[in-house]
Amino acid sequence: MGAYLAESLIRDIPDFPQPGIIFKDITPVLQHPAAFREAVEAMMVNVRKSGADVLVGIESRGFIFGTPIAYELGLPFVVTRKQGKLPYDRISINYDLEYGSNTVEMHRDAILPGQKAYIVDDLLATGGTASASIQLVEGLGGHVVGFGCLIELSFLGGRNNLKGISIDSLIAF
Ligand code: AMP
Repeated sequence: MGAYLAESLIRDIPDFPQPGIIFKDITPVLQHPAAFREAVEAMMVNVRKSGADVLVGIESRGFIFGTPIAYELGLPFVVTRKQGKLPYDRISINYDLEYGSNTVEMHRDAILPGQKAYIVDDLLATGGTASASIQLVEGLGGHVVGFGCLIELSFLGGRNNLKGISIDSLIAF
């Protein structure tokens, strides 16, 4: 048995959303209140330790884990979203995926210069999404003091793309 209740609940979905990908489905964790609470509280300990003064959530599952942490710690919560979703002035970063590319955006007033930001997502795979989010924070003059996720797919080496950033993951595969 793993250290977290969530570990036995994460469901592998082979060949989703495309052949060759094993999708880590976290919805059973969300449906299990004790497992969800345990995971959020463990992530929250790491955010508190980081000394962050703003929490950044990555669309969309980063919102699920990030908002209860921001609420509980009394931190501002800001969002990184896919292109075309944010209505106000924004900055954009384009990054390569295994196939094709993706663009993420943040509102220009989301981070104040000098703010210490901690970034949250559900899962770290290649690190492309996290790296783009770091560039958004830094592009607005903020400092990234940590990245946290529930699941890390260690075999994809995402950490190597996030050099110099402290990474907290609860469950590694
Ligand atoms: P990456 O940019 O490669 O680190 O991918 C991380 C982002 O894609 C996160 O927002 C994840 O939610 C999602 N993701 C990537 N791979 C998987 C996977 N195998 N299962 C579930 N989500 C994934």
